[in-house]
Amino acid sequence: MPSTVWMVPIVEGDAPDAVRRKAGVAWDAAGLSRLIRPADLVALKVHFGEEGNHNFVRPHLLVPLVERVKAAGGKPFWTDTNTLYVGARSNAVDHIALAHAHGFTLEDTGAPVIIADGLTGREEIRVRVDGRHSAEVGIAPAAAACNALVAVSHATGHVVTGFGGALKNLGMGLSSRKGKLYQHSVVKPKVHAASCTACGTCLAWCPVHAISIVGDSALIDPKTCIGCGECLTACRIGAVRFQWRMASAGLQERMAEQAAGVVRHLSGRIAFMTFVTDVGKDCDCMASRPRDVLVKAAGILVSYDPVAIDQAALDLVASHLGRPLTEVGHAIDPTPQLDAAAALGIGSRDYDLVRT
Ligand code: SF4
Ligand code: SF4
Repeated sequence: MPSTVWMVPIVEGDAPDAVRRKAGVAWDAAGLSRLIRPADLVALKVHFGEEGNHNFVRPHLLVPLVERVKAAGGKPFWTDTNTLYVGARSNAVDHIALAHAHGFTLEDTGAPVIIADGLTGREEIRVRVDGRHSAEVGIAPAAAACNALVAVSHATGHVVTGFGGALKNLGMGLSSRKGKLYQHSVVKPKVHAASCTACGTCLAWCPVHAISIVGDSALIDPKTCIGCGECLTACRIGAVRFQWRMASAGLQERMAEQAAGVVRHLSGRIAFMTFVTDVGKDCDCMASRPRDVLVKAAGILVSYDPVAIDQAALDLVASHLGRPLTEVGHAIDPTPQLDAAAALGIGSRDYDLVRT
């Protein structure tokens, strides 16, 4: 049976105030306030935008969501998890500072920022999924403990998964650090010898002694490496790198299993809103320029089904481009994540679009 996806169209030239109003219209069309009971702690899962990214969904557009959560008696908070890679979002201190710098302040939005997986991303709650790759997954504690969650996603292309929408926002964006590492474990890290200073820090962090100093740089033995990624965060100069392009389908399937963990844990208390605006070839983890945008404005989608909303977002992007995203963005098929999530029973690629 098809799932319902509500859509509020946005056209290029809509003023920010109009887009902001439409975010509230989209929320109301799907009746998202019914997820919230008085005193509920309500997570608004967003992406605060990497340093130098210009395309992330701006917080002032999301204020109507905060207002509606509060009107229903809930206590909203913005949340996301720390990144694996070294950057401005790899620990909670830097992450909150960047979120504030990008406008996600209590004063300006009415909601505080809480990093969902703790100071360094090492905290997690284990949830059973019985998937093809994982029996259980680790999700961020704040996502597990909240009373309701609305995943506010920004439709983008992605260098590894082809597309980033609701499933990626949950699967990667709400997984613990260990969970992210597991997803990336299909992709073993390598040391970029020209950047490595042979300081030896990563050797001390590797749990399986897979790293040694050979000549002027560290070297990872791929046969011993378990893909845990400790070296990725231990190396403060970013000399340890993953080969992101490899094994996309396997990573997407693991990502769908992580997403299923969140959806099942929050069964009946989770919904999805996706902005199909400023759609870039790359995700909001990348620095970007305004001219990197492929689709400027298409609409705001809302659904209770993360698979249906991703399919609808891909279709909407394709209709604006006149061809599939894979022909314009990265040539990586994003359907494995949709099919894997559907097979896990958390949604359907069939949907009915209700225009508001
Ligand atoms: S990913 Fe983990 S196991 Fe592999 S080299 Fe790095 S620290 Fe060692
Ligand atoms: S921590 Fe980084 S710079 Fe130091 S040895 Fe390891 S890879 Fe090289």
